[in-house]
Amino acid sequence: MDFYPVSIEKLIEEFAKLPGIGYKTAQRLTIHVLNLPESEVKEFAQALVKARGTIRYCSVCGNFTESDPCPICSNPNRDKSTICVVEEPKDIMTMEKIKEYNGVYHVLHGNISPMAGRGPDDIKLKELIRRINGDVKEVIVATNPNVEGEATAMYISKILKHLGVKVTRIAHGIPVGGNLEYADEITLSKALEGRVEI
Ligand SMILES: [Zn+2]
Repeated sequence: MDFYPVSIEKLIEEFAKLPGIGYKTAQRLTIHVLNLPESEVKEFAQALVKARGTIRYCSVCGNFTESDPCPICSNPNRDKSTICVVEEPKDIMTMEKIKEYNGVYHVLHGNISPMAGRGPDDIKLKELIRRINGDVKEVIVATNPNVEGEATAMYISKILKHLGVKVTRIAHGIPVGGNLEYADEITLSKALEGRVEI
């Protein structure tokens, strides 16, 4: 068994709470941190606290932001008539990397999954519907191309069509069962180009 001092055990425990980090990796990270110069550890700790303290969700699109509305929503050069719907804030970073999309976003913070008991009320769908007005011409659904992402896209399409908005879905290029996050830039760029109305 391990006989670490309490403070080390505590640090391992904290690292092990992070997604994808098992006990062994947590141990390795802890040893790494203990070998760092104290100034670097302080910087790391301060970055954690600062990010947690200053980052909030944009009240318009749900993206991570330090200022509300976020820089994308408050940018006068972004086309407010096109809203790209994504599951998570990290998907916005992915979309922004291709530098071809000039509309705005909406983050659902999840997806619809009947299997997991997650319905439309568990994601930021009402918030999306509230944003639909005469100025919005197109909603591009860029949820992940897996079962949950497709179910979510279909539901959004059904609801928004009643409101008279064109709903498109990013199409070919992204492998089925894949994740938007892992799509390379050319693939994602093609998928955006080849979006189809749903
Ligand atoms: Zn925003």
